[in-house]
Amino acid sequence: VKAQRGNALCFFDPQMEVEINQRARLETDLQTALVEGQFELHYQPQFTLAGQMVGVEALLRWSHPQRGMVSPGEFIAAAEDSGLIVPLGQWVLRQACMQLAAWQQVPHCASLQLAVNVSARQFRQPDFAQQVIAQIQQAGAPAHRLKLELTESLVLEDVQDSIAKMHQLRTKGVRFSMDDFGTGHSSLAYLTRLPLHQLKIDQSFVRHIGQQHTDDVIVQTIIGMARTLELEVIAEGVETPAQRDFLADHGCTLYQGYLYGRPMPVQELVARAAQAGQG
Ligand code: C2E
Ligand code: CA
Ligand code: CA
Ligand code: CA
Repeated sequence: VKAQRGNALCFFDPQMEVEINQRARLETDLQTALVEGQFELHYQPQFTLAGQMVGVEALLRWSHPQRGMVSPGEFIAAAEDSGLIVPLGQWVLRQACMQLAAWQQVPHCASLQLAVNVSARQFRQPDFAQQVIAQIQQAGAPAHRLKLELTESLVLEDVQDSIAKMHQLRTKGVRFSMDDFGTGHSSLAYLTRLPLHQLKIDQSFVRHIGQQHTDDVIVQTIIGMARTLELEVIAEGVETPAQRDFLADHGCTLYQGYLYGRPMPVQELVARAAQAGQG
């Protein structure tokens, strides 16, 4: 027993220390990145079946001085744990609102919807709704072009609080999309209580279309739910014409994915919008 206790007390895993140091380093680097303006937004286009570009999703990129362009998968978790996601999320919203305001003067971009991802920690700030409204007003952005992407787990964490904030923003014109839909624990009963505008079919289901029958059924069910609730439905992660055709056959109206375009810097997106002839 003594030996065991001794072992437990002296237990030391060098690999673990490496990971803890790496994480601490990442957190300071992120802080520096925010101060020094190393973040940027890339925009992934969203299309109708007829090929009209109707919206974009803003996706965060870290332009690291040594590592080049870093994707959120490598830093969002650290930003959430350290709390940095709150100021970072505010930066994203401010940037998005300024972009929306600027696009009012750009012919092929003036009617685009701009979707922004919101993390739970950011959304749970007591003054989240007021912050968003302030950003919209300061930038002079058209509120009805801003769409906030929430996840089911974020909403379910505190349904009352979520509904209250969503309503506050909804009265200003802001729209909501349920991101990664189908991966959480949604029921029709609570979905009807949310002031949603759109369901976004998670890419994990889209990926297996035509391969896994259960995923085909889930995709059909989500499209059916959207119809019942009179919501828009968008598929993300659309990579192949076969996936698009299946989605189209089952009544999906909006499409986002590599088949249509990768997330790209703003100038490229503007060129792409002009090309798509959106007006
Ligand atoms: P998400 O919101 O589900 O975003 C979709 C992800 O799928 C993006 O990855 C996008 O680049 C990728 N994607 C788009 N089309 C395709 C496709 O056809 N095939 C495949 N395989 N992937 C596709 P990304 O940009 O690396 O972002 C990852 C996640 O990071 C996002 O997932 C979102 O949860 C989070 N994120 C990104 N930007 C922000 C942000 O500004 N704030 C917060 N809180 N989270 C963000
Ligand atoms: Ca998203
Ligand atoms: Ca998603
Ligand atoms: Ca996701």
